[in-house]
Amino acid sequence: MRLSVTYYDGQSTRAHAVELEVDEVAGLVRLHGLAAPKSHPLASLKVSPRIGDTVRSITFPDDARAESSDHTELDALAAKAGHGRTLHLVHLIESRWKGALLAAGILLVFIAAGIRWGIPVVAKRLAEALPAELAYDLGKSTLVILDRSVLEPSKLSDVRKAELVGKFQSMTREYPELPLRLHFRKGLGANAFALPDGTVVVTDELVDLAKDDREIMAVLAHEIGHVHFRHSLRVALESSSIAMLVSAYLGDIGQISTLSAALPAAYAQAHYSREHEIEADGFAFDYMTRAGVPHHFFADILEKLEEKNLGGKSKDDGTAYLASHPPTTERIERFRRAKK
Ligand SMILES: [Zn+2]
Repeated sequence: MRLSVTYYDGQSTRAHAVELEVDEVAGLVRLHGLAAPKSHPLASLKVSPRIGDTVRSITFPDDARAESSDHTELDALAAKAGHGRTLHLVHLIESRWKGALLAAGILLVFIAAGIRWGIPVVAKRLAEALPAELAYDLGKSTLVILDRSVLEPSKLSDVRKAELVGKFQSMTREYPELPLRLHFRKGLGANAFALPDGTVVVTDELVDLAKDDREIMAVLAHEIGHVHFRHSLRVALESSSIAMLVSAYLGDIGQISTLSAALPAAYAQAHYSREHEIEADGFAFDYMTRAGVPHHFFADILEKLEEKNLGGKSKDDGTAYLASHPPTTERIERFRRAKK
């Protein structure tokens, strides 16, 4: 290996054109082009780190110095002199630090903005991106928890259940991509809710409240809407801790899997947002239009639910968290106004 350099002997300011010859076998660097030949042990050389494209120097043990900007050769020389790794690292840090700083800055802004405005947006994206299996796990564990705590087995007859399951199945045929299953339970008042895995739960009290099965179907269509839009997963993600979201930002799938344990508790305390309800209402509205179910049936059941909820128990009886469908005049009006 030979390398052309500009050489300064350390005594005068005069520059010499010198060729460095690296003799790896002897472990020496020979200098050619000087009045008298010179050599130094290879390991005694110091090669300055690469900083951008600036000229670098080689320092010899006799205080002589050489300059070159042939970075490839200099890096090779530094490697042979035995400190290549360190130099490479220095160069790497030098050339990347601006990028790294910028990336860190962007990440900080992103996290701050996420905390301030973006959590629902990020939760939505995340809920859409999460693997279906994770959503299924969440659904299963949630129903188990609810069964142990607030829900009781349904007292509906098998005939009645089969009747409703048949109607539910005729609806679910429209959404083959959703793994929908209907479950009957008692408790939590007149209610229905959907879990992320497509589990739809309807309570005996709601079945009893309905005067017409089309009212129940309208409610079930609304619940299917929540599953379709992955609302419960979004709510769970919005209400879980910022730290989890940050690890999700960073794309650490190992961290995301730990969400699975934390989520059921999180969405037990969560409520659907008004936007989610309007979205699910719209889904039900479209279904009813296509299926030819008159829209007033949804308005009818909402009115009855509102009456029951307002006239009945207080909101703080501990079951309020699943009373996630506060029917409002506005929502009822939307279905009342619809023609047929
Ligand atoms: Zn809802």
